[in-house]
This record gives sequence, structure tokens and C-alpha cells, in this order.
Amino acid sequence: MPIKPVTIVLWLFLYLMIALLPMLIAMGIERPAPRNLLVETGSMLGLLGLGMLATQLIISGRHRWFAGGLGQDNLLQFHRRTGIAAWIFILSHPILLMLGDRQFVAWLDPTESWLRAGGVIALALAVTALIVSSLWRKELGLQYETWRTLHASLSLFVVAGGLGHALMGQHHTAGLLTQGLLILVVAIPLLLLLETRLWRPYQLQKRPWRVVESEETRADSTDLILVAEGHRGMNFKPGQFAWLTMGDSPFSTQQHPFSMASSASNPGHLEFVIKEAGDFTHYLSTVKPGDKAYLEGPYGVFTMDPKAKRRAVFIVGGIGITPILSMIRSRLDELNDTPMWLIYANKSEAEIIMRNTLEAFAEKLPLRVIHVLSDPSDEWMGESGYVDGDVLDDYLPEDAEDIDYFVCGPPPMMDLVEPELQKRGVKKQRVYSERFNLV
Ligand SMILES: Cc1cc2nc3c(=O)[nH]c(=O)nc-3n(C[C@H](O)[C@H](O)[C@H](O)COP(=O)(O)OP(=O)(O)OC[C@H]3O[C@@H](n4cnc5c(N)ncnc54)[C@H](O)[C@@H]3O)c2cc1C
Repeated sequence: MPIKPVTIVLWLFLYLMIALLPMLIAMGIERPAPRNLLVETGSMLGLLGLGMLATQLIISGRHRWFAGGLGQDNLLQFHRRTGIAAWIFILSHPILLMLGDRQFVAWLDPTESWLRAGGVIALALAVTALIVSSLWRKELGLQYETWRTLHASLSLFVVAGGLGHALMGQHHTAGLLTQGLLILVVAIPLLLLLETRLWRPYQLQKRPWRVVESEETRADSTDLILVAEGHRGMNFKPGQFAWLTMGDSPFSTQQHPFSMASSASNPGHLEFVIKEAGDFTHYLSTVKPGDKAYLEGPYGVFTMDPKAKRRAVFIVGGIGITPILSMIRSRLDELNDTPMWLIYANKSEAEIIMRNTLEAFAEKLPLRVIHVLSDPSDEWMGESGYVDGDVLDDYLPEDAEDIDYFVCGPPPMMDLVEPELQKRGVKKQRVYSERFNLV
């Protein structure tokens, strides 16, 4: 679903309540004599940075009660921006303290207290490494899985160490009640992180899946079919995705998101179409029937109600076709014959995923498929170039309130198409978009 403004307001309110808690506790309970403005601002920024970093653990934990209605990609964009803001606040904290009162320079002196000085330096370095490794992961040559483990370890260290540092500060945090409450508000996100990383995989162990088919459909993509083993499967809405782990145990750093490509009417039998992008997706092309898998989900707000009598326009690039396959298949199962248009961008004919399947759908449903190739062969008679305003003008129906738009593809295509739709007067509430690059 496109995000409702009320959801954003409520969510921001919840976020602020949690992120501001350490600062509010420290300010609200203890009332020590105020120090100069720089020192007080520095103290508060430190507590604000701690609250924001602790909240980051909740944001990235895929908790439905926290993320509901927002979409994983939006949430991770927010996580990225607030992470940078928290880093700036945390680094400003010692600078303002030392500018406001030179006595704070002693916090860096190991001869005064090695634990205190070592802690301050380690925390500043760790929070900087956290941000630098996230912003420049590819440039640093870090593999996604290595980065994920490093990110989780550094986050744990910074939040737990930051709490210890705040308690050592004493000025605003001397009282037992303040200390207890601070420990509580920081411990809850830490416990939620353990829930995500340990309890959830433990629960997934009870709901295994089995590969029944794994077939290379084209040179670089695999059709993977899983069936639920000993349980009813996973109810999902067409367009949603799940986190897939392969092997005998769900405790793995190799957990990757993939959209269901099968109909939502059969939750115990799921199909995925997977394009090779790196080590895990390459490994998936080698799995065999009988192999075990685990799925955590469903997630995502890029969804369609297959029963709704609303016309649908799909504007898709490459592997972005997978959630759309699920939507079309689900409509077919619901005998929903509302018209649909699919503009499908690929480089060449050889790269079109599930072309025959799409043609078969177009015979059974009022579905018009328009292929657009950016690098076609000389024999190609269809559209060529990129999906732009001209292509949309030529093929799409006139916009109306009963049309929903689903856009899923590589970032350059999305960046071009979304403003084009707005230019045609399409309301944002009717544009659903999904990006496959979360990081
Ligand atoms: C909501 C969503 C739905 C997706 N659906 C599909 C689909 O149906 N079919 C399909 O082929 N691909 C899909 N993807 C993309 C797929 O998750 C990545 O291609 C895959 O994780 C790459 O892993 P790798 O180890 O092979 O490649 P790597 O070389 O490790 O990664 C290639 C890139 O993929 C991204 N990536 C890697 N691991 C993860 C991860 N655990 N979580 C998020 N991003 C990651 C990173 O940007 C990375 O740079 C989807 C992604 C998202 C976010």
C-alpha cells in the first residue's frame, strides 16, 4: 500500500518517544545545578545520540508492530539518515563538553582512568567505523555478509558501551532511579536485537521448507519452488517478500530477501525467481530438490488485493517482475478479469524473464504486455530504448481513480518513471513502488 500520511505521523511520534527517552529521563528526574550552555548541550546531544542509536536496533529488526505500513525500503532509508544524524550528535558531544569546560579533557587521559579514556576513544572510533563501513561498503570491498556481521557487532558495542559511558557521566545520571530507567530503555532494544537474531531463527526451525524444483530458466536466473514441510505455509499478499535461508539451520548470516512469484492462494507452495547477483544467488542455482530452506516473512507493503476490481498498470524492469507475477497469478486464481497493462523493460529479448508465462497470462486475462528493450537485436519489432514519458503516453490508459500503478525495477528506471506518472496527474496514493536494493 502507498503510505498513508497518518501512518507517517504516528510512526514519527513513536520514533521520537523512544529516541528521546534517555534524554527525557536524565532531564526529568535529576535536577542538578545547571552548567554552562555548551556543557549542557553537549550532555544532551550525547544522550540523544544514545537514544537514536538504541532505536536503530529496533528499526532494523523487522518488527511488524514498529514497521507496519511503512515498507522495509523506506524504513532502511530512514535508518541510514538517522544513523548519520546520531553519529554527528555523538561526535559533537565531547567537542562541546571540552569547549564548555576544559576539565572534560581529563576524560581522554588514560592516567586519570584508563577505562574511561579507553571507553571514550573506542566508542568514537566504533561509531565512526559503523557509519563509514555502511556508507562506503562497496568502495571498502566489504562483502555484504561480512558488513552485516560487523554492523551488528559494532552496533551492540556502541549501544551497550554508550550506556556504560552515560552512567559514568554521573551529573545527570547519578540517581538510582535514573540509572535503572536508562538501563531499561537501552536494554529493551538490545533484547529486541537478540529476539531478531536468536529467538526468531529458533522459531523458524519449527517451520522448514523443502525444495521441490530448482530449474535454471535462463542463463542467469533460477526458478525455485519450495513446499511447506509439516505446516500450512506462509499466508501472504501478492507483492510481498520473505527472507530466505538455505540449509539445515536457520541460524545463518546468509539470509536474503526475495519476492514470492507464485499465487497467494497457495501459501504452502511458493515459487521464487532468482537472478544471479552475487555469491548467495549464485549458490541458489546449484540447490537440488530435497534441500532444506527457511523463510521469514511475509514482509512488504508493495501489495495488491487480488479480489479488488481496480485496473492495474505494472511498470517493471528485469527481475522486478517477480512480485508482479504473484499479482497476476493471484488475480487469475480469483477469476478477477479487471484490465491490466504491463510495461516490461529489459536489455534484450534473451533477458526477458518468464516471457512464455506472461504470454500465456495475456491469453487468459485482459492483460496487455508491452516489452521495451534497451539493446535489441536488429530483428526486434517492438519498442526499444528506455521506459520514458513517450512510452507511457503511447501505451497506458488515461489516468483514472480506479487505476493503481505498481513500479518495480532498477533505481534509474524508477527515478525516471515515478516523476513521469506524477506529470500525468497520477496521485501518489495510487503509486506503489518497490526497490530491490535495500542497502
Ligand atoms: C524487497 C526485495 C525483494 C527482492 N526480490 C527479489 C527477487 O524476487 N528475485 C531476485 O533475484 N532478487 C530479489 N531481490 C534482490 C536480492 O535480495 C539480492 O539480489 C540478493 O540478496 C543478492 O545477494 P548475493 O549474495 O547473491 O549478492 P551480493 O553480492 O552479496 O549482493 C549484491 C547486492 O544485493 C544486495 N543484498 C545482498 N544481500 C542482501 C540482503 N541480505 N538483504 C538486502 N540486500 C542484499 C546488496 O545491495 C548487494 O550489494 C530482492 C530484494 C529486496 C530488497
